[in-house]
Amino acid sequence: MQKLFARASRLIPGGVNSPVRSFAGAGAAKPLFIRAAKGATLTDTDGRQYIDLIHGWGAIAAGHSHPQVVAALEKTAHNGLCFGLCSEIEIEHASALCDIAGVDMVRATCSGSEAAMSALRVARGYTGRELVAKFAGCYHGHADGMLVAAGSGSLTFGRPSSAGVTAGAARDTLVLPYNDPQAVRDAGAAFGERLAAVIFEPIAGNMNLVKPSRAFVAELRALCDRHGAVLIADEVMSGMRASRGLACREVYGIEPDLICMGKIIGGGLPAAAVGGRKEIMGKFAPLGPVYQAGTLAGSPPALAAGLAQMRLLREPGAWDRMAAAARGVSAAFRSAAAEHSVPFCAAHAGGMAGLYCASKVPENLAQVHGCDTDMFRALHAALIERGVLLPPSPFEACFVGLAHDAQIVAKISNAARGAFASLAGS
Ligand SMILES: *Cc1c(COP(=O)(O)O)cnc(C)c1O
Repeated sequence: MQKLFARASRLIPGGVNSPVRSFAGAGAAKPLFIRAAKGATLTDTDGRQYIDLIHGWGAIAAGHSHPQVVAALEKTAHNGLCFGLCSEIEIEHASALCDIAGVDMVRATCSGSEAAMSALRVARGYTGRELVAKFAGCYHGHADGMLVAAGSGSLTFGRPSSAGVTAGAARDTLVLPYNDPQAVRDAGAAFGERLAAVIFEPIAGNMNLVKPSRAFVAELRALCDRHGAVLIADEVMSGMRASRGLACREVYGIEPDLICMGKIIGGGLPAAAVGGRKEIMGKFAPLGPVYQAGTLAGSPPALAAGLAQMRLLREPGAWDRMAAAARGVSAAFRSAAAEHSVPFCAAHAGGMAGLYCASKVPENLAQVHGCDTDMFRALHAALIERGVLLPPSPFEACFVGLAHDAQIVAKISNAARGAFASLAGS
């Protein structure tokens, strides 16, 4: 793997095509290179095997290389990979999504980043306003206007959180603290009439796992209703994972105006979507004035894989099994830490779990930052030694799928006990 990393580093910045893969967040000097994945197991290029709690950062839910997903992909691929024209599978996928997400219309994109970017653009086109609000710790892809951190005061405009993002793009984004209804009310009072959209993760999964309060989510809906802004639920991660459909509706009882979905709906291939009410979706070209496009959008093989994975998750009892696995993983870590009196806690939401090196489950980004990074790194390394792979960062949630059965969860539990024993002993 050392050789592969050296070669990758000469050809690809940092040797990786997405920064979190570098394993820097876990304090490791180099990434893992994966040769194969099957069910709940990853095999690296040195032949070592790991129970996978990354699962494609949530894109995999049926288990790696599920035969039905692979078969659907193969069958579609034999009939052509890209037409650049309409095909029937686009209708099938859109129909499944509209049904699952309870929206009128969807437009397919290739990534969650594009889905969020398109949702924000159509919200601006629909309202004729420019300002959008997001929340610290929520991730909506890497479009300029979303790579913004909170300004110096609670009600100042954002500043770029990445080099290369213009101050102009950052000025159109207001960054508020997550889970703070008063901050939402204050923002409404100050900027309500200028707000095009409020975008949020109904279950935050990009600052580890953070669940909002009902009051917070209700306040977002009220703010948008009061000021005529568009409420965008970014369910790229939480959709079909934190709940059977939309977490926003099923967990919090709130109707969003627009939604973003991705990850699970592509079955491990690049597919995502923006969806919502006809009135807003009708603003997209060619019906309306908001431009949005994609050569590979609605890729038949990606949609076929996505449809197959969505069908597997919707089989009776399937989603519940995924959720039970995440609950089992979270409980296993909690009790293993308690056995060794290590300050640690865990949470779960549907098929995702949060593991925190802290004594209290965090409720916002500042509290996630308060978790013990050194302890996380030690835990990550101790688990790798025991054949369990956590996401390589304390800011990422864990993901399971249908292949994480009771036997796999028991293996994770054993590894966790061994890991905490070694941590407590050192
Ligand atoms: C992963 C993610 C995105 C970005 O999706 P990509 O396919 O990586 O571009 C956007 N929003 C949320 C909530 C995500 O979890």
